[in-house]
Amino acid sequence: MTPAPVPLCDIQAQYKALQPELDAAVLRVLGTGQAILGPEVEAFEKEAAAATGAAFAVGCSSGTDALILALHAVGVGPGDEVIVPPFTFFATASAVARLGAKPVFADIDPVTYNLDPSQVAARITDKTRAVVPVHLFGQCCDMDPIRRVAADNRVYVVEDAAQSMGAEYKGVTCGTLGEVAAFSFYPTKNLGAVGDAGMVTTNSPEIAARLKALRVHGSEVKYYHKYLGYNMRLDAVQAAVLRVKLPHVPRWLAAREEAAKRYDALIESHQLHGFLRRPAARADRRHVFNQYVVRVPAAHRDALVQHLKDNKVGVEIYYPLSLHQQECFAYLGYRAGDFPAAEAATREVLALPMFPEITEAQQSRVLDVVAGYLRGRLRAAA
Ligand SMILES: *Cc1c(COP(=O)(O)O)cnc(C)c1O
Repeated sequence: MTPAPVPLCDIQAQYKALQPELDAAVLRVLGTGQAILGPEVEAFEKEAAAATGAAFAVGCSSGTDALILALHAVGVGPGDEVIVPPFTFFATASAVARLGAKPVFADIDPVTYNLDPSQVAARITDKTRAVVPVHLFGQCCDMDPIRRVAADNRVYVVEDAAQSMGAEYKGVTCGTLGEVAAFSFYPTKNLGAVGDAGMVTTNSPEIAARLKALRVHGSEVKYYHKYLGYNMRLDAVQAAVLRVKLPHVPRWLAAREEAAKRYDALIESHQLHGFLRRPAARADRRHVFNQYVVRVPAAHRDALVQHLKDNKVGVEIYYPLSLHQQECFAYLGYRAGDFPAAEAATREVLALPMFPEITEAQQSRVLDVVAGYLRGRLRAAA
C-alpha cells in the first residue's frame, strides 16, 4: 500500500471543520445585497483590531494592496527610498516601486531570515522615508534596533506582517510594532479568506483616516477626491468568512507551534539534524510558523525537493530568487553577490508541509521520505 500524500497546506480542512458557520455567513451576506464594505466589514475591522491590539484596522483587497496603502499613507512616493529585505515575497518590494519610490535592499540575518538591523542602518540616506521589516515565515524581526535606527533618522516603520498574524516580539503582537502594518488574508496565511483580502493596522487616527480614504479612490466624501487613491476595498463576503475564522486563530497558531515542535523532535529522532537545519525561534519572540522552513546544503536542495515531490510530499521553495536579482528590478543596478545571506538562503531553504491540522503521522511520513533520500544518496556514494 502506498502511503497517502501529504499536502503542503490543507485549505479545505478549515472549511470542513467550520462548514455550517461559513456557509451561513456567506448566505447571510448574499441576503443583504451589501457586497462591498458596509457593516460586515466594519464589524470585522473592530474584531481584527482587538485581536492585533491596534487601535485601528482597515480592511482591503489583498496583502499586496495593504502594503501599497500603508506605504502611501505614510507619504512614500517618487524620490523616496524604502529599505526592504531582498529575501521575501515579491510584493514587499513591488509595493514600493508601484508608488514610484525606490526599493533599497538590506541583507538578512542568515539564521532568522529576517532583516539584519545593522544592514538597515548602513542603507539609510537622507532620502529614506520608510523601512519595511518583513516578519518572515511567522517570526518577528528584531524590532528594537530597527525602531531605534528608524526613530534616529525620522523614518517610518511599516511592518509586513502578511505571514505573521499573532506573532509576538517581547510580548507584543505584530501589527503595532511600527507606525503601520500590512496583513494578508490569502488563503494559506494564518488567517485565510476565500479569495484575496488584506488589512492595514495602525494606532494613529491620522494614518487610519488616510487609509480609509485611499482605499476608496482617495475620497472621504463620495465623489470628492482628496487624494489620488485606489479601488482597494474589502468585500463583505470575505469579511463574513474572516469573522467566522478569526476566533479560531489562537487555537490554529498553537497547533502550528505544536506541529513545529513535533518536526523538531522528529528531526532529532531520525538523526537528521546534521543535514536538515531546523528553523531558529528566538527566545524573545513567539514564532507562529506560517511556514516550517528548513535548510540543507545547496548541493542537495533541488534533489531533495524532487524526491519529496516524487513521494507525494508537498514542498515549496520560499524563495528561489532574491528580489535584487529579479528581472523587473534590473534597473536598480544590483548584482549577484550583493546580498550574500539572502542569496545563500535562496539556494538552501525548503518549506515542509505545515498547517494547523497536520497530524503526527503525516509529519512522520515527511521525515521518513527525507531519511529515504539520504539513505539513497549514501548507497549511491558507496
Ligand atoms: C502573502 C504575502 C504578501 C502579499 O499578500 P497577498 O494577499 O498575496 O497580496 C506580501 N508580503 C508577504 C511577506 C507575503 O507573504
